[in-house]
Amino acid sequence: MKKALFILILIFLIATITGCNGNNTGSIEEVLIEEDEEESGIKELNDEEIENAEKEEIDLYDIKPNENGQIMIIMYHGISKEESEWVRTIDNFKKDLKSLYDNGYRLLNLSDYVNNNISTEAGFTPVVLTFDDGLQNQFNYVDENGVKVIDPDCAVGILEEFCKNHPDFGKGASFFVYYPVPFRQSDFIYDKFKFLIENGYEIGNHGYNHENLGKISIDKVQESLAKNAQKTYDILSGYTVQTLALPYGAAPKGNNYKYVIKGEYNGFSYNNKAVLKVGSNPAFAPNHIKFDSERLPRVRGSEILVNGTGMYDYIEYFKKNPEKRYISDGNKDTVTIPESELPNFNMDSIGEKNLITYLPDKSAD
Ligand SMILES: [Zn+2]
Repeated sequence: MKKALFILILIFLIATITGCNGNNTGSIEEVLIEEDEEESGIKELNDEEIENAEKEEIDLYDIKPNENGQIMIIMYHGISKEESEWVRTIDNFKKDLKSLYDNGYRLLNLSDYVNNNISTEAGFTPVVLTFDDGLQNQFNYVDENGVKVIDPDCAVGILEEFCKNHPDFGKGASFFVYYPVPFRQSDFIYDKFKFLIENGYEIGNHGYNHENLGKISIDKVQESLAKNAQKTYDILSGYTVQTLALPYGAAPKGNNYKYVIKGEYNGFSYNNKAVLKVGSNPAFAPNHIKFDSERLPRVRGSEILVNGTGMYDYIEYFKKNPEKRYISDGNKDTVTIPESELPNFNMDSIGEKNLITYLPDKSAD
């Protein structure tokens, strides 16, 4: 009994130590073997190392990072004058950005989220914004005395203005477009795409013509997704579309689901690193055992309660349940989690990063 307890403590201790040392942890088993080899040499810390360790501890207990917590991927469609299930008003969208900012959320691009490339400032929570359908009110050019300018009331115009005034909010959003005319102004497709990728945004796949992928043949699914990706690739000379928002949230059933991830049509192949659904809750952190980049849920950018799946529901939820929320440690090369998250942590997913664990309630001793 005592021995079992000792081993358990050892596992936790080793996970912590290897994290701090910069060794790759891999699995618990590997870690134990590594530790056996090192067992003889107990290293004494010098003054500087002790000071650094103490400094880190203080920061940890102050910031309480939890990089195994949940992340909201927010779903928008139209940004227009009248609020509805699929439309956010201009004022409400501005309010959403301010609310996210004020509540400690910072913008992260979808690809950085799925690639676990998260350098959000320490103590803050990444949030991913997504816009479906490539509507004109998401990105609209207007004529101002003969000069083409971004409509300040379209989604991109509002985002640009907000991010300019709040530079620490970060930059980013994904636009899931379909053809033949993304953003509905045929003369400006290239200009808009170019602006997006040069200004920190991403372009994703939403089918060639918004087909319901659950109701067409596997050949047609591949045709729809490959033609979309190829068209964007051609327009932006080489831009590789790697993310998909399922039109209507629909996909082929069972084993055929794989065709939304990989497929080919007419010699052009696609490989989606992220597949987004329509509803209805925050997503898991990239190192969480339940993280599934092929089936990512989204929270609605809305206050109209559709089964409580709006972003304000979750802003409140995370206030009441702060331990569920992703809190960054500010370093994309380390993953810092409270020890209580170890059972939910996927050791195989950590790659080159270092795992750091801590006991958040230690300061209460
Ligand atoms: Zn759509």
